[in-house]
Amino acid sequence: MAELKDVKGIGPKSLSLLNKININTIEDLVTHYPFRYDVLKRDDLSTIEDGGKIIIDGKVESIPILMRFKAGLNKMNFRLVTQSGVVGVSIFNRAFLKSKLLVGTDVIVIGKLDKGKNVITASDIKLDVLSNQVKIEPVYHCTSGLTNKNMSTYINMALLMYGREIQDYIPSEYQEKYHFVNKKTALNIIHNPSTNEKLKEVTIRLKYEELFQFMLKINYLKQQNKKEKNGLIRNIDREKLNKFIESIPFTLTNDQKIACDEVIGDLESPHRMNRLLQGDVGSGKTIVAFIGMYANSLCGYQSALMAPTEILATQHYNNLCEFMKDTDVKIALLTGSTSKKEKTEIYNGLEDGSISIVIGTHALIQDEVTYNNLGLVITDEQHRFGVHQRANLQNKGIKPDVLYMSATPIPRTYALTIFGDMDVSTIKERPKGRQKIDTYVKKVSEIKDVLEMMYEELKQNHQIYVIAPLIEESENSDLTTVNELKDQMKLAFKDKYKIDIVHGKMASGAKELIMEQFKNNEVQILISTTVVEVGVDVQNATTMVIFDADRFGLSTLHQLRGRVGRGTSKSQCILISDSDTERLKIMEKEDDGFVISEEDFKLRGQGDLFGTKQSGDMSFKIASIKHDYKILLQAKKDSKEYLENKETDKDSLKQLIIQSITKVN
Ligand code: ADP
Ligand code: MG
Repeated sequence: MAELKDVKGIGPKSLSLLNKININTIEDLVTHYPFRYDVLKRDDLSTIEDGGKIIIDGKVESIPILMRFKAGLNKMNFRLVTQSGVVGVSIFNRAFLKSKLLVGTDVIVIGKLDKGKNVITASDIKLDVLSNQVKIEPVYHCTSGLTNKNMSTYINMALLMYGREIQDYIPSEYQEKYHFVNKKTALNIIHNPSTNEKLKEVTIRLKYEELFQFMLKINYLKQQNKKEKNGLIRNIDREKLNKFIESIPFTLTNDQKIACDEVIGDLESPHRMNRLLQGDVGSGKTIVAFIGMYANSLCGYQSALMAPTEILATQHYNNLCEFMKDTDVKIALLTGSTSKKEKTEIYNGLEDGSISIVIGTHALIQDEVTYNNLGLVITDEQHRFGVHQRANLQNKGIKPDVLYMSATPIPRTYALTIFGDMDVSTIKERPKGRQKIDTYVKKVSEIKDVLEMMYEELKQNHQIYVIAPLIEESENSDLTTVNELKDQMKLAFKDKYKIDIVHGKMASGAKELIMEQFKNNEVQILISTTVVEVGVDVQNATTMVIFDADRFGLSTLHQLRGRVGRGTSKSQCILISDSDTERLKIMEKEDDGFVISEEDFKLRGQGDLFGTKQSGDMSFKIASIKHDYKILLQAKKDSKEYLENKETDKDSLKQLIIQSITKVN
């Protein structure tokens, strides 16, 4: 297949801009779907009120007169003949259009109508007039330097040059069954719809394709899991295990005990473990994983624990080392920033079996990593990982048991579709001594109250997280940034308290250092983007302040709030926003993650499900699990039928999809 740079019109500069928004292949480009459509409907001069917005087409009747002002400003005037009469048009700063606006040229003018003067002050003039009355214009997520028009041009050029080669993931029998148009046609229509009906039709087709592909992978994984009845059988030394559990500085809750028994039961049974451990934030899932890994190591097998961020992996590693300091289990931490030398040592240790437990990020599933006898694979915050990544790690072992941990941001009904075949352990009970986290929604103008609340906590030697959506100023946004907050907080608290920043773009060494300082209470106020969203555990932090809270989904807010209230002190969460307060108020009342994720699903419009990049399994480009649940169920049924149909075994499409799951990376 050709590459992105082969598409006519895409030069090195536009290539790097496209890469910046995660478009790396021709397939990425042509499936960069519009997140909305603007409908340009032609108006009539007589129906528009004075000062009203107008979109009208006509012919240029007079040679445009150009006036230049100081500071490079200019203005152009001409007359336009439309079906409903002649009107004057003036437009600012489009001198470059003069040569194109010849007398007799067809144009669409978009602007505001001054009825008295009979003049449209135009905001835009379009030269590519279509003959039909309505134009549906796709609007794309772009980036600075790359306009909507560029995006549309590149996509259409790619479709023209390589449209036929784009892989179609719907098997022909289902194409026929549902009378779907082929992929190329569907893509052409979604990027250049002529009518709403056609747009709807191909949208369903593309959603079905995406969900079919997704469910086929899931069903394939399930099928593989079922086939392998003969998992590892272990005899666990109960005495040693109990001794370890007793050495833990707290008593397990009942739910934790039950979950541990279930995990241990799986390890001992000949069935392969395929278990989801779910529990709200702060319910204490990690210790269950640790106990499982220790039990596994007692039987001489290796364990791998994969976390979605380096901060979290490092934290797990530090905790586990502490818990296991009296044992002789060898533990390693492997992340993207592990030095080359250390990496080689760890690779060797994993290959010869001298390392029993490895904790890390995606680094655990790289090609170079070979395990000696991987017996247990655990993924933390599993919703953050894709099917591929999970499959890759499983494929590294012979027949490892698999435990997925999740704070379940997915409502039960949907989770059952996707994880239908798994055993589930649930931790409902919270550790003893936990108090409810008080949540307040505050307006920006109430910032003084917020600072006072913060000050009260600081005086009690407690620590605070402050979250902002952005790292640095961006041109087209007035969202709060972490840098800006740092200055503000410094001003408010003088030099009494140490304030520092972490964010996703920092080098990982620097990130770790600051997290470590925060953990040791050398930093009192930690200002951050959502990198602290998952998993981070600092018990002395009692206050979470979130700026521009309306920018975040409720589940994310719940995760962020879960960073406090981890010790026995009363904790609070303050959500600052002037808009969307109704939605945010749900957080004041509700502290059950399951309920919150249901609410989140109910509230999210189609709009922000398009285009927003969600992580892991839920990252669909066009489909949405909530809105397209019916299509999902159909795709689930069809993909299962297709997978079980032996006649399709030699089907190249089936091979292709299966390869994409089993291939490492
Ligand atoms: P999550 O389920 O969100 O991953 P963690 O496993 O990080 O939660 O646990 C949250 C905090 O609660 C940790 O500091 C952990 O040590 C502590 N914890 C876990 N179980 C208990 C318990 N039974 N009693 C007291 N504290 C506990
Ligand atoms: Mg956790």
